[in-house]
Amino acid sequence: MEIGQATHVGRRRARNEDSLAVAEQPRRPDRGVLCAVADGMGGHAAGHVASRLAVETVVQSYFEAGGEARTALAAAVQQANLAVWREAGADPARQGMGTTLVCAALLGRRALLANVGDSRAYLVAGPVVRQLTRDHTWVADQVAQGRLSAEAAERHPYRNVLTRSLGELQEVEVDLFELELEPGAALLLCSDGLTRHVEPEAIRAVVVAEPPQRAAERLVALANERGGTDNVSVIVVRT
Ligand code: CA
Repeated sequence: MEIGQATHVGRRRARNEDSLAVAEQPRRPDRGVLCAVADGMGGHAAGHVASRLAVETVVQSYFEAGGEARTALAAAVQQANLAVWREAGADPARQGMGTTLVCAALLGRRALLANVGDSRAYLVAGPVVRQLTRDHTWVADQVAQGRLSAEAAERHPYRNVLTRSLGELQEVEVDLFELELEPGAALLLCSDGLTRHVEPEAIRAVVVAEPPQRAAERLVALANERGGTDNVSVIVVRT
């Protein structure tokens, strides 16, 4: 397995409020590798605090938790939510801070995914690129209900409004997915700074053409060439 990662502040923002991690624990080979991308929000640098805390907590908790990997991953995301929620409540300057989180636990060919918010996971397999996660946004709900087209959603003034995030409530609903990766398939995790500028087919083309580290760097560069309106983070895993 080969993993590449890249993150960049973009061309318009003063700070990078995304955080990412690729982690393994030699004492827990049964837990494989955990990859995570978080996109924080909140003023006064709180967004970075939220995303960093979420990523650190999910990694620590996943490798410490007992039970099966899927149960451990779900519990770890809840712990990350709780950590951000407590921090947001403890400091008035950090009130309202929150973060998205998308993570993938890689156990050989088996991949477990968890997400909250609008950071995404994609599967790239030859000619196919498929979004695995569902965005927890108001516009995604409207599209699902047939009230808005996907094209209109991308330009909608409410496109950034999340219906779920970490740190908002004491408990959070987490989407979990499980899949088998075919040999040569790639998994991609990203913040919306990528998907705002780079469409799925362009993501696919880069991921199939380059090794994971070069692909991650190329995708970040592409987002910046096309405007770089937001922080951008990418993890690419090739089996
Ligand atoms: Ca973002």
